[in-house]
Amino acid sequence: MTQYAYFRGRVVPIDEANISVRTQAIHYGTSCFGALRGYWNEDQEQLYVFRPHDHYRRFLDSAKLLMMTLPFHPDDLVEVTRILLQKEGWREDVYIRPLAYKSGEVIPCQLHDVEDEFALFSLPYGSYLNKDKGARLMISSWCRLGDNTIPPRGKIGGAYASSALAKSDALLKGFDEALLLDGEGHVAEGSAENVFILRQGIAVTPSVSSSILEGITRRTVIELLTRALGIPVQERAVDRTEIYLADEAFLCGTGAQIVPVTSVDSYDIGSGTAGAITMKLRDLYSDVVRGAVTEYTSWCLPIYA
Ligand code: PMP
Repeated sequence: MTQYAYFRGRVVPIDEANISVRTQAIHYGTSCFGALRGYWNEDQEQLYVFRPHDHYRRFLDSAKLLMMTLPFHPDDLVEVTRILLQKEGWREDVYIRPLAYKSGEVIPCQLHDVEDEFALFSLPYGSYLNKDKGARLMISSWCRLGDNTIPPRGKIGGAYASSALAKSDALLKGFDEALLLDGEGHVAEGSAENVFILRQGIAVTPSVSSSILEGITRRTVIELLTRALGIPVQERAVDRTEIYLADEAFLCGTGAQIVPVTSVDSYDIGSGTAGAITMKLRDLYSDVVRGAVTEYTSWCLPIYA
């Protein structure tokens, strides 16, 4: 099946979407990106993109932090996504990657007076962590970047060197994922996921000023926990020992979806197996994203007519 990209204002075969080695973004990490998913609903023969407007609003916020002047409104980006996906005609789950980058071929390391470009592509995609039964985490010795270094609120390319340091360190030490603390020693997030704990019937997640990406899945989970499952959620600073003592914990993100955490460092979480509320939430989430829960179909954009 031919794959395409939206590149320099046109849909082109993916092999034609290439950039120069002199592109500023490759050297300095001056890019930002998004990560969306399209879910194939076999019964309805429909591909649903989950919360595209929310993803593109955050994408354009990231671009603004990098002083990019992209000529798009979120609606325009949703439309480009629809055009690309219709051309590709996927009948399976896909990952959708919008990318904006400083395309100027220049040496100065600055944001202003450097041209920007936008590109978009998609690819078939399954699970990111592949740990359905639960992931074993380690608290990383790499700290999450702060708002005054590379702001985690933006999904900025250069910041992912930090995620990669933490992730490789965790994997090479035999864990499944890294959990990073912020500069003050509070829990921030995973290398590419937000984190929640459940303790005594209350869900707790680091607040948006705890050096985290403002995850769309995090926002979805807060809604599902409070409205659908009746579980109160606190957004606040979280100590590392609160995780060790949690009854349940899970990671969430567009790629990871909902992944139970079964241990952190040497500590089992709860009984050391996936928690009951986490599994309930995971099942609900997987129905919601496929457009199978009436209450939440407004989050799912159908791609095919
Ligand atoms: N934190 C980081 C660092 C991420 O890269 C991601 C993945 N985009 C998330 C959290 C989860 O965000 P979302 O739910 O919007 O995918």
